[in-house]
Amino acid sequence: MNIILLGPPGAGKGTQAQRLVEAHGMKQLSTGDMLRAAVKAGTPVGLQAKAVMDAGELVSDEIVSALIGDELDALAPGQGAIFDGYPRTAAQAASLDAILEERGQTLEHVIELDVDEDALVERITGRFTCATCGKGYHDKFEQPKVAQTCDKCGGHDFKRRPDDNEATVRTRMAEYRAKTAPILPIYEARGIVSRVDGMGDMDDVTAAIEAVLGS
Ligand code: ADP
Ligand code: ADP
Ligand code: ZN
Repeated sequence: MNIILLGPPGAGKGTQAQRLVEAHGMKQLSTGDMLRAAVKAGTPVGLQAKAVMDAGELVSDEIVSALIGDELDALAPGQGAIFDGYPRTAAQAASLDAILEERGQTLEHVIELDVDEDALVERITGRFTCATCGKGYHDKFEQPKVAQTCDKCGGHDFKRRPDDNEATVRTRMAEYRAKTAPILPIYEARGIVSRVDGMGDMDDVTAAIEAVLGS
């Protein structure tokens, strides 16, 4: 099964994707994570993407669709993909259709996380992750159970994203509204969109997503 998690920055896509990975052995395909890895490695893609990401704007469709195609080819046979942060434009949605079709794959669900934009700045500015395994946390909403120690891997190093500041978040939200939200009707026309309340507890959001996948 292949699904898209759709929602503005801070909606909870990464958090919920990590939970689906744990529960179902699916693969999280986050173009944001792929781009950050490219920036860190100093690849040509990373060098091109860094300033765009720091500004909160969108990296080119060609770059991200190429990254997604490569990652899909690396999946285990039968392993489902969770698209997290992709597609973000109509052109990317068309590329994803082509990429899946070339591989004989289909898209079963688009899950829209419905959130209140006012809450997102607090979510984003309090976000941090384990530097070792990538597990997500929040200063207020999801602290490690033991201080300074990752629940998942026991690591002690944590990191914050340079673009997780209020000014950049506003640009990212505007990009979402202008370029990403308009792709929903493409999927609505296919009858595969489910809307989930993203404002509840993380566990409630997970339960609502599981209900969609099980139906
Ligand atoms: P996205 O991938 O959509 O940008 P994340 O999953 O990284 O969003 O979530 C952003 C921040 O908000 C993280 O720090 C995460 O721990 C926190 N968060 C995620 N879901 C919830 C929720 N339902 N309630 C409160 N905080 C949440
Ligand atoms: P968030 O989960 O908070 O929305 P992401 O990690 O998905 O953030 O994305 C971080 C940044 O990486 C974006 O602001 C954008 O610059 C770039 N990016 C990630 N995915 C895409 C994409 N599919 N198309 C264009 N740019 C992308
Ligand atoms: Zn960890």
